[in-house]
Amino acid sequence: MVGMLAAMPPPATLPVPTGAASVRDRGDACPGTLRLHRADDGALARVRIPGGVLSAAQAGVLRELAERLGDGELHLTSRGNVQLRGLRPDCGGELASRMGESGLLPSERHERVRNIVASPLSGLDGRGQRDIRPWLSALDELVCASDLTTELSGRFLFALDDGRGDVDPLGADVTVLARADGEAALRIGPAETVLRIPGAHAPQAALIAAETFLDTARGSGVWRVTELRAAGGILRGQVVRRLRQAGIHATHTTGPVHPAESAAPAPGVVDGPYDTVALCVGVPLGRVGAEQWRALTRAARRREGGGELRLTPWRGVVVPGVERARAAEELEALGAAGLIIGPGSPWTGVGACVGRPGCAKSLADVRAGATAALGPVGALPVYWSGCERRCGHPGGAWVDVVAAPDGYRISLVRDGERHAPLPVPDSPAALAAAVATARGLAGQRPAPRPGT
Ligand code: SF4
Repeated sequence: MVGMLAAMPPPATLPVPTGAASVRDRGDACPGTLRLHRADDGALARVRIPGGVLSAAQAGVLRELAERLGDGELHLTSRGNVQLRGLRPDCGGELASRMGESGLLPSERHERVRNIVASPLSGLDGRGQRDIRPWLSALDELVCASDLTTELSGRFLFALDDGRGDVDPLGADVTVLARADGEAALRIGPAETVLRIPGAHAPQAALIAAETFLDTARGSGVWRVTELRAAGGILRGQVVRRLRQAGIHATHTTGPVHPAESAAPAPGVVDGPYDTVALCVGVPLGRVGAEQWRALTRAARRREGGGELRLTPWRGVVVPGVERARAAEELEALGAAGLIIGPGSPWTGVGACVGRPGCAKSLADVRAGATAALGPVGALPVYWSGCERRCGHPGGAWVDVVAAPDGYRISLVRDGERHAPLPVPDSPAALAAAVATARGLAGQRPAPRPGT
């Protein structure tokens, strides 16, 4: 298989950007299905699920593997992927074989680079500018057919936004947004300006942008577009040139502005102009127990053709295609299983890294801390971390709670800036009060982004 660039006129040799920081000299140790990470609670596998889309049958396989080989839970990530934790160290072969049989491992060489988030309600609620599922399938196939993309870091991220602006703020390396006029906007890194391209070429353009990044960053130790810093401008110029070589017309644009909607889909019944509805649930701390997973797959399987689940980058799950007449009953069953089905749940917007005892770096059992300090629903998400790395933290504006040797530090993060942290002792009452205040004070949506 060859990369998209191999089929194009020979490109000029790209310079290693002088503005790029040589940010690391070690290999990418990001875990996958074939490369397990040894954690304190056993081996960990991260299963890439492009767009978070799982067939009900695949969901059943994941649940069975988690129960039989791991800790029995499915751990949702901030990219709509799934982690299996507490795995036996000798289970790698069986894991890979079952994943392959179920279609969760279409290319072993690309298993860690299929990082694609997509608007989870696209095509379900009548909003957005187009149903981006065809883009999702096409981009995943292109990534898996490219030799070059095997060189991407496991952290490199694509985002496909149906125009509602929900996954655009997640800070992907390459973002494609649907436009009202049928065209698409291609954003490379955090740039304010975007490239306007024909909608039909959006997946190909995203692949070309990723492949051009690889050539631009080669030798610099850079894994993400943001790490290119000043050289980001060189990259964007090269992408325009290569798009034109591929026959894709691209023009720079800065407007119009799409509405900002960076929050997760609200839990409940999602209606739309169709015969069926979707159910949207949140998952407390992103940990789905086996019975909860069974309840979700049961709801999905009632749909003709087997049904599917869509895992969201906000650690929630969407069940599309539910009969309208059964929606309330199905949602109630998911609520009875312990999932978040409405806006009043104190778990809404609360997240945490794995912390102790699963992570040796953690200074605290942050999941227990978050549970003990649950309070009223706040306007902004809150994320608890066991150390300064803040694995899996949300994007946009959020309340940051980090364990410290003498308790916790609480701060507000907005527009990439962290406000001065407030020290709070390790007391559930003190933490609940401080978190509630921070979430209340901070309750504004992030500003709209220009360029789409
Ligand atoms: S944020 Fe720190 S404590 Fe939490 S999972 Fe990451 S490394 Fe471990």
